Amino acid sequence: MKKGRVFSGARPTGQQHIGNYLGAIQNYVALQDDYECIYCIVDIHALTTLEDTHLLQANIREMALDWLAAGIDPQRSIMFVQSHVPEIAELFTYMGMTTPMGWLTRVPTFKEKVRMHPDNVNYGLLGYPVLMASDIILYKADTVPVGEDQLPHLELTREIVRRFNSIFGEVFPEPKAKLTEIPLIVGLDGSAKMSKSMDNQIDLAVSDEETLKRVKTAFTDPTRVRKNDPGHPDKCNVYTLHGAFTTSVFPEKFMAIAHDCKQAQIGCVDCKKLLGESINEFLRPFRERRAKLAENPGVLDEILADGAKRASAIAKETLREVKEKMGLL
Ligand code: SF4
Repeated sequence: MKKGRVFSGARPTGQQHIGNYLGAIQNYVALQDDYECIYCIVDIHALTTLEDTHLLQANIREMALDWLAAGIDPQRSIMFVQSHVPEIAELFTYMGMTTPMGWLTRVPTFKEKVRMHPDNVNYGLLGYPVLMASDIILYKADTVPVGEDQLPHLELTREIVRRFNSIFGEVFPEPKAKLTEIPLIVGLDGSAKMSKSMDNQIDLAVSDEETLKRVKTAFTDPTRVRKNDPGHPDKCNVYTLHGAFTTSVFPEKFMAIAHDCKQAQIGCVDCKKLLGESINEFLRPFRERRAKLAENPGVLDEILADGAKRASAIAKETLREVKEKMGLL
């Protein structure tokens, strides 16, 4: 017996990096044991800023390959592309009729986007939280995995749901947050976040050599200037990453790092080399599965088509109920 239905969506950003894996994907995989999971690549959301649309299809496929290779199981979970279930556009329109404008103009991310893209303040950008709410409730998901910082977004979804239900009668469950501890994975260059746009990431699917090369560039404890200086692993991102990778593939080596760093018995060059080897070892099965999946693009097409079909069956049923309550049927 499953505990509930999870929905989570992510924009198609192409190949995923280790920050994406530690922050979201590994949690997606784990949730499959206890929940009925629906994972969606939200390509319509990607249109709000109209960037790189020519890369959309390639980015969707790369991301889907990474999700599958990481362990999202299309037999147990529904994995699909948002625009492949057009019912989402219809529900978005209906939910727009009950969501007050003031709720949307007050959203901090809307204000931020207006500041960043003053030439492209479109209606879709304003309606973004309504689309996000529609994504969740179209499938009647009752659980949404979120980090603490995303709680306000989910609260707005809950308000949108409450308002609709109070006007037209109970249709949607109010989705609850499943608080997930999202480890802070800073960029290799020490900037606040690992991200492709900053080119400070390690993609999951790169070669062993590329991984070792990238890890070499990682920012370490800034107070450790010479090899003989004692280090502070708690202030070093390389050590944080050892905690995510080395701890599971070379646990005995992981145990020694903090001590050896503090006593200056290991240099940063060797420490980073070990991290690169750990990441490669950890990702070896992932990379093998991914290469196999990529060899046969038809399989990916079938998985996404099957996901869309199963998602669409739920969506159609929800829409029928919504239209009935709203007097459209
Ligand atoms: Fe960081 Fe390792 Fe250097 Fe210590 S030895 S500062 S943990 S890279």
